Amino acid sequence: MRQIGGLSLEREANVLIIGGGVSGTGLAYNLAKLGVEGIVLLERNYLGSGASGRCGGGARQQWTTEENVKFMKKSIEILERLPQELKFNILFRQSGYLFLARDEEQLNLLKENVRLHRKLGVETRFLDAEEAREIVPVLNTEGILGATYNPKDGVLFPFALVWGYAKAAKRLGAKIYLHTEARGFKIENGRIKSVFTDKGEIKVKEWVVNAAGAYSKELARKAGVELPNKPYRHEIMVTEPLKLFIKPMVVDLSNGLYMTQTSRGEVIGGIGDPEEESSYNLESGHKFLYLFSRAAIRVIPILKEIRLMRQWAGLYDTTPDKNPILGPVDEVENFLQINGYSGHGLMMAPYATQLLAELIAYGKPSESIERFSIRRFREGEIKAEKAVIG
Ligand SMILES: Cc1cc2nc3c(=O)[nH]c(=O)nc-3n(C[C@H](O)[C@H](O)[C@H](O)COP(=O)(O)OP(=O)(O)OC[C@H]3O[C@@H](n4cnc5c(N)ncnc54)[C@H](O)[C@@H]3O)c2cc1C
Repeated sequence: MRQIGGLSLEREANVLIIGGGVSGTGLAYNLAKLGVEGIVLLERNYLGSGASGRCGGGARQQWTTEENVKFMKKSIEILERLPQELKFNILFRQSGYLFLARDEEQLNLLKENVRLHRKLGVETRFLDAEEAREIVPVLNTEGILGATYNPKDGVLFPFALVWGYAKAAKRLGAKIYLHTEARGFKIENGRIKSVFTDKGEIKVKEWVVNAAGAYSKELARKAGVELPNKPYRHEIMVTEPLKLFIKPMVVDLSNGLYMTQTSRGEVIGGIGDPEEESSYNLESGHKFLYLFSRAAIRVIPILKEIRLMRQWAGLYDTTPDKNPILGPVDEVENFLQINGYSGHGLMMAPYATQLLAELIAYGKPSESIERFSIRRFREGEIKAEKAVIG
């Protein structure tokens, strides 16, 4: 073993996970829980340094496709019991998501969603503007034609989820190496034999997992695998902390604005910029502040009195149908993907990492992940998710 900062880098792994976000740490935990040994996770920076630690913390069941509604329902059920299971408080507050519609098209989408959700046992309610104001008393109802609300949706502290998973995984025997970068692969007869890192080579007996978020595409390329994912910058900000007055995550469908309050009371929120080009840019800009402030003040006018404290940016790892890639690839036999979440990975990862762990441990997950296979982009009919926010 080679010493790095007091830790010895393992020379061999059964399952080598690349990436210390919610996917990598969640997978390490779920594998260890199933009794898999020889789990090694590499993170080139610190835990949560990618999108996981930069995100809005939202988790919701309000989606537009049957598959995604069912998937997120499972994820939320997992989030509800995770604090006990991990022995770690992830600060999950279930105070709903409130979607606002400002035109007929958005209104119809919300009405269709309610029908779909109810059919699937998800208690989303349709509200008129006044009923929406009962949930957020500071809401400006002007121009709002209708809304939907689901009380089981909520927000959590993203770093806590990553830390909780990592701590529990380590307790169960997984090895996690920070500031250790995967730089290349030794591939023989279509299998990865070892991973080259900046601290040395690690032999791999079973699987290598690409959980590198928006950098998964670059990493996969080093193994000769081409992913369709593209990185997009998304900016986000927090205000000074205040007493809780925006309980749900409020989403304005007309422009992709989302905002709520964190457990510390900061108003946290973001908004998409349709003109943003694909890049790895992580800089913060004035344009975002302008777009966000205008949109946020229209929804909650009292926000104009509140001071902004901090803004930052993260990357959405976006696929053509806005759904993740989970599972094996054709080119390399033992190279699994868990990436391409397209801006909703925090809420998908609890269930996605459980299913991928089952695939590794038992050869088959308890629910098929075939629809997330990379093959869908070549062969299948792709069904795009319409409710991607930000
Ligand atoms: C502004 C913003 C708001 C968001 N809001 C939400 C939300 O409200 N709800 C939600 O569900 N999702 C949200 N998301 C999306 C969510 O953050 C991501 O989908 C999710 O965190 C992805 O997790 P991950 O572990 O797959 O990737 P990441 O968290 O990006 O982790 C990948 C890790 O891999 C590491 N890495 C990369 N290359 C290497 C290498 N070669 N060697 C070693 N390590 C490497 C990186 O350093 C990084 O830490 C948001 C994203 C952004 C940017």
